[in-house]
Amino acid sequence: MNTEKLKLGEFSMLLASDLDDGRSVYLNGKKLDSPSKEPIFIKTLSYVNAYYRLQQTHPETHMYAEDGQQYDIVFKTPHTIQDLTAKRCVYQDIAIQSYGMLGRTPDFIDSGIPAFAAHTKFLGCNKYANFSSNADSYCARIKQSDVFVSHALQNPQIDRSKELHEVTKGATGMKASKVTNEGIYVSGAKMVNTLAPLSNELLIFNTPTLAPGDEDYALAFWLPINSDGLSIICRKPFNRPDHSEFDYPLSNAFDEIDAYIIFEDVFIPWSDVFVFQDVEKSNQFFTESGLFQHTTLQDQARGSVKLEFVTSLAIELAQRLGVDKYLNVQEMLGNLTANLELVRGALVNSELTGSMDDRGVFGPNLQPLLAIRAQLPKMYELALTTIQKLGAGSMMGVPDGRDFDGKLGHVLDEMMSSTLMSAEYRAKLLNLSWDVSGESFGQRQLMYEYYHGGDPVRIRAQHYHSEDLHIGDAMLKRILK
Ligand SMILES: Cc1cc2nc3c(=O)[nH]c(=O)nc-3n(C[C@H](O)[C@H](O)[C@H](O)COP(=O)(O)OP(=O)(O)OC[C@H]3O[C@@H](n4cnc5c(N)ncnc54)[C@H](O)[C@@H]3O)c2cc1C
Repeated sequence: MNTEKLKLGEFSMLLASDLDDGRSVYLNGKKLDSPSKEPIFIKTLSYVNAYYRLQQTHPETHMYAEDGQQYDIVFKTPHTIQDLTAKRCVYQDIAIQSYGMLGRTPDFIDSGIPAFAAHTKFLGCNKYANFSSNADSYCARIKQSDVFVSHALQNPQIDRSKELHEVTKGATGMKASKVTNEGIYVSGAKMVNTLAPLSNELLIFNTPTLAPGDEDYALAFWLPINSDGLSIICRKPFNRPDHSEFDYPLSNAFDEIDAYIIFEDVFIPWSDVFVFQDVEKSNQFFTESGLFQHTTLQDQARGSVKLEFVTSLAIELAQRLGVDKYLNVQEMLGNLTANLELVRGALVNSELTGSMDDRGVFGPNLQPLLAIRAQLPKMYELALTTIQKLGAGSMMGVPDGRDFDGKLGHVLDEMMSSTLMSAEYRAKLLNLSWDVSGESFGQRQLMYEYYHGGDPVRIRAQHYHSEDLHIGDAMLKRILK
């Protein structure tokens, strides 16, 4: 995106032509001369743009005024429970546009920017740069330009049995290949960066897993997506160009393209560096910046929308197939609605039991949010298997959309209609059910729920370590005394 054209208070939008800014994107084995000509990119872009469209259609909830300027409300520093709730409702609004299936829309990183802006001191400085000031300028610029920032933190799974610096072959992260007075040159790779090909810039950092000796890998910085030496290699797309959206209503509508990112001597000026060869700062970056706490609220709010979508789909399927009158089916559906209520409740709980930090930023309580992150993968999987169990053989018997327009069309219309739904509605409902639960698109969405926020096994283990059980412990003490 040409940030020149963005003026404070004006609405922005990601334009297809912005994708042709010299970024190096590989798709289906080829380097794209003109990414703006890729149909799946353009379709996906229109869903990502929902973030910007809602600023225009619903400014009363999506925008706020500060110092005489209008900003997206995701950039508002929360000071109260109500501030957090208002922001959470906006994250859900945005997620609704893509049925919760676009996880890394612009509001993800943006949601953490106000907290980051208040927590830059810990970054300190070195002889080349003041990292705290760099972060101050970064946060101010992102808020003003409202560009789309994508992030990459996870290092490639080259050999997880070793620390990064012990791995001798392959790119197990990214390190500075050269250091000058002007900046650093970085080389290496990040494992997966969702929506990177459509973004304006990347925020690069590590998870808090670096060990002493990993100094070379201990970096955090931002860079434009069209930086020289940066290559974005998209995973194989899931769309079916030979079919319509009737057949594949999600796979053919958009794809939250994941990509492997390669850095080959990419120059990063000192002004854009936040952490340099400092394991402690690298490990602190996600949490001390407030990015983790505040993006987690956005993430779970988005997850709740996706869970609601598949819950509604399962219920619609049961009702239209006439199986909802059976007690066992009602129990299956009740499991889904109960899970949804638990997630909704945990979101509200995280806001109600949130607290003010030392910089005056009101943040959500992480324990309820991490409880969602710990359990949502199971809840989402249960919803998908419920859809498969209810759709049963029906999902496998849906003709190609073109058959409905062909010679047998009128026969299909007659034979596949019921008093509960028309043949066309049946095909659409079952196609959606299969796309969500069985197709590559749906399976990737399941993987996304499982892993995108970290390894759920370790999240659950950490949850137990952090839970406040003082009442339970006091009761136990009393009875066991
Ligand atoms: C669809 C999708 C989109 C994603 N998008 C992004 C993105 O935009 N940006 C980004 O940065 N990342 C992204 N990720 C990556 C995500 O952050 C990681 O997948 C996640 O953090 C898990 O890490 P991993 O894949 O390296 O698995 P690992 O951490 O290597 O885990 C693999 C398995 O080994 C076990 N294991 C490994 N190491 C240990 C250990 N030390 N202790 C105990 N068990 C261990 C785990 O329990 C697990 O079963 C995405 C992932 C997916 C699936």
